[in-house]
Order: sequence, then C-alpha cells, then structure tokens
Amino acid sequence: MLVVMETAATPEMVAKVCEEIERLGLSAHPMPGAQRTAVGVTGNKARVDSDSILTLEGVREIIHVTAPYKLVSREFHSENTVVDVGGVKIGGRDFVVMAGPCSVESREQTLAIAEKVAASGSKVLRGGAFKPRTSPYSFQGLGRRGLEILAEARERFGLLIVTEAIDTETIDMVAAYADIIQIGARNMQNYSLLRKAGGLDKPVLLKRGMSATLEELLMAAEYVMAEGNHRVILCERGVRTFADHTRNTLDLSAVPFVKRMSHLPIITDPSHGTGRKDKVLPLSRASIAVGADGLLIEVHHEPEKALSDGPQSITPAHFERLMKEMRTLAGVLGRTVP
Ligand code: PEP
Ligand code: MN
Repeated sequence: MLVVMETAATPEMVAKVCEEIERLGLSAHPMPGAQRTAVGVTGNKARVDSDSILTLEGVREIIHVTAPYKLVSREFHSENTVVDVGGVKIGGRDFVVMAGPCSVESREQTLAIAEKVAASGSKVLRGGAFKPRTSPYSFQGLGRRGLEILAEARERFGLLIVTEAIDTETIDMVAAYADIIQIGARNMQNYSLLRKAGGLDKPVLLKRGMSATLEELLMAAEYVMAEGNHRVILCERGVRTFADHTRNTLDLSAVPFVKRMSHLPIITDPSHGTGRKDKVLPLSRASIAVGADGLLIEVHHEPEKALSDGPQSITPAHFERLMKEMRTLAGVLGRTVP
C-alpha cells in the first residue's frame, strides 16, 4: 500500500501518517519525491483497512499495490531513482560504464588496468577481491589485500570502486573499502547477505541470478530496500539457456521490463552475459539502445594471463573504442557518458 501525500503536506503531517501506520502494526517507509512525499506501507498480510490513514491531514490518496514487490515497484515510486555515488549518478541521463579486471590479481595488474580505464573515461573501477568460483581449486581472490589494492587505485586515479561481497562474514570488510557493494549472481537469493547489505550505508549492485526470473530479481532487491537501503542498482548479466554459442544469454528485454515495473536503475554486464570478448562491444551497443543505465565490463591488459574470465575480458585499447562508441550512441539516444 502507498499513501500519497498532498504537494503542500508538511513534514509533521507525514510524521503523523507514519505514526498511524506503525500503530496499525505495519512499517512505514517515507519516500520524498520531486513533487510530493509518498509513504510506502509494508508488513500487511492482507488488504489493510486504510480509513484511519485516509482521514489524516495532508493525505491525498491511497494506492493498493498489486505487485508482490513494494518498495522496488514503480507503483510505489513513479520517478526514476538516481543512485548518487560520490557525484556519479546512476539511473538518470548519464550512462555509467564500470570497468576493470574480473579479479584483483596483483597491485601491478590492477593499477595498470585502472590507469587505462580511467584514461578512457570510466569513473568506476570493478575488480573482485573475493571471488565466487565454481571450483574450490581456482583462484579465490586476494581478500583484504585485494581491497587495499583497489583503494590505492581509487586514490591514484580518482575512480570509484565496485567490488563483490560473497558472504555475511566479510561484507563489513568489503563495505569499508568499496563505494558500491556488488552482490553476485550466485548470491542473488542469499537472503541473509541481502539483509546485511540492506543495513549498510553503501549502494548495492545486485546481479541477476543465472536462472532467476525478473520477479525474483526484484524481490531480492526488495530484501535490501526493506532494511532501509534504497540505493540499489540492478544488473542483467545473462541467464542460462539452451544456447551454447555464448556462456550465458544476455536477456536485453529485462531492461525495458524492469524499467516499467521498477524505478531502480539497471545496467548490463555483456562480459558475463556472453563470455566472449568479441561479443562485448555489440551487446554494449544494444544495451544502451535498449535503455540500460550503464555497463559492467571486464578489461584486462593481458587477457591470456588472467586468473579468471580471460576469454571474456577486452583489452584497454578495445575498451577505449567501446567508450568512444558509447559516447556517440549516447548523443543519438539523449544520454550522456560523463
Ligand atoms: C563478476 O562480476 O566477476 C561475477 C562473478 O559476476 P556474476 O556474479 O554475474 O557471475
Ligand atoms: Mn568475472
């Protein structure tokens, strides 16, 4: 349920509405908007008798939300959410490209790649310090040392850092270094991890599970938002299908679907979405055209030596070309690459 306030409603009126919602045993989530404040109501098992709220001063109308996700839904919040991460705005006019290695492998490797992606105009550096690997014998990441290396790259090149948290034991450590906490495909339905991320004061990049429906993705985002963290960025990273010409099938139709159902920003990951370096540029073009708010791209200066995901990593030179193309396309599509 959503309580829509009058444009002229005062903060005191909003507070009264929240009080009444709590009195009814429900949770109130005030959401200030450009025009007016709305108060989201969650915790109801059935339709709420809303008369006592409707009669309060400053209340314009009550909307019963039909979607199973509430805080995430566009019914709750009609304007696009713009997640501001240190001045980089995701979900508005800007098209934000995040790029870097799959894994932080060494200081030299990460700084070399960070310098290149920054020079091409990327504002956000990606790189995993904790890696969720299919095999326990594969490189698992450098852990805290990897986070320190990312922090050094941030200082040197003025980049923001997005890096993955893989469990509740280490997410606080990741949050201490990251500007954006990534929750990976394998953890999309790790509800204790989602809840923990929801309690942190850091934006969350939530990747779609490899066999998750979009409703499941939005419900996962709801877990984060229900804990009070409203800075969620969704990421389409490909799903498993019968197709074997790519590692995953990048489901581009997810973008307009999510845009219709939710106010949250959504970016795509054509690297994991295809698993092939030659498919990254064409699917990046398609992503901006379909309305995505940005990209997550794996870049490696020596892809043949990469400790993870070499076959899908593009070189810095290739990345520079990709950024140029994104700028050109952004101009045509009414977007800006900052
Ligand atoms: C990654 O971004 O390196 C990663 C592991 O992605 P995903 O969770 O989408 O597989
Ligand atoms: Mn990877």
